[in-house]
Amino acid sequence: MDYGSRILSKGVKGADVEELQIRLAGFRGTLPDGEFGPGTELQVSNFQRDVMGSSTPTGVADGETLRAIDSFADQFSIDFAQLKCRCGKCDGFGQGRFKGKYLGNQKAEAFHLYEYPGIHRMLLWAVRAAVFYLPEHRFSFSSGYRCGVDNQQHHRNTTNHCGKAVDLDAALEPGEGKREDAIKCTKIRGRLVEVSNAQIGWGAVNRKALEPDNVAPTWVHYDVRAYEARYLEDRFFCKSLTALDARKPILI
Ligand SMILES: [Zn+2]
Ligand SMILES: [Zn+2]
Repeated sequence: MDYGSRILSKGVKGADVEELQIRLAGFRGTLPDGEFGPGTELQVSNFQRDVMGSSTPTGVADGETLRAIDSFADQFSIDFAQLKCRCGKCDGFGQGRFKGKYLGNQKAEAFHLYEYPGIHRMLLWAVRAAVFYLPEHRFSFSSGYRCGVDNQQHHRNTTNHCGKAVDLDAALEPGEGKREDAIKCTKIRGRLVEVSNAQIGWGAVNRKALEPDNVAPTWVHYDVRAYEARYLEDRFFCKSLTALDARKPILI
């Protein structure tokens, strides 16, 4: 079923449910499996309560809710210019190289060298929610896509920024330094665990992940590398705001 063509509620399955789960990734979540269960109901309820200001959230994604999600997208736009790879060789989102190739002999997603075709949509929708839930901060992306060429230029061997990760920077106020920045980032991570069901570290599968503060002290690294391969198919990745929003007519 096309997203926007029917009301979505508990028990419903389909590609439109998966789309809803992606769009509400930052409102609890966090599995885009296309099955509307209690987790999806909680996503919808939290969005209705927190964004739509409903005192009696229904957990049913009706026309009003889907339209509110579109307005939320407009209000919390994503600047793709900040996300593009800076190597000067690729189009900004890698060259689609190294699918199924791993760094060393560790066949885990964390070492997958594949240059995914863009950035994971669920991750960017989750960033929107982060900006919504943390209005006291001014966010920008300090790092987005980093392809294999960029990694070579910088002598890096990490591969998660090939579409599965972004780094968020919270602007400092005058007089603030590294210490204040670290405190800020720790608080932001805590809030994302609370509202978005993210984990710190990568222990759980199929969960959005944040680098711990000893790895990322003064920035917030957010990623989807703990997801199983079926949630990392090419179709989940996007290279533009149009593709991220995937605007569909709401017919209900
Ligand atoms: Zn590049
Ligand atoms: Zn990072």
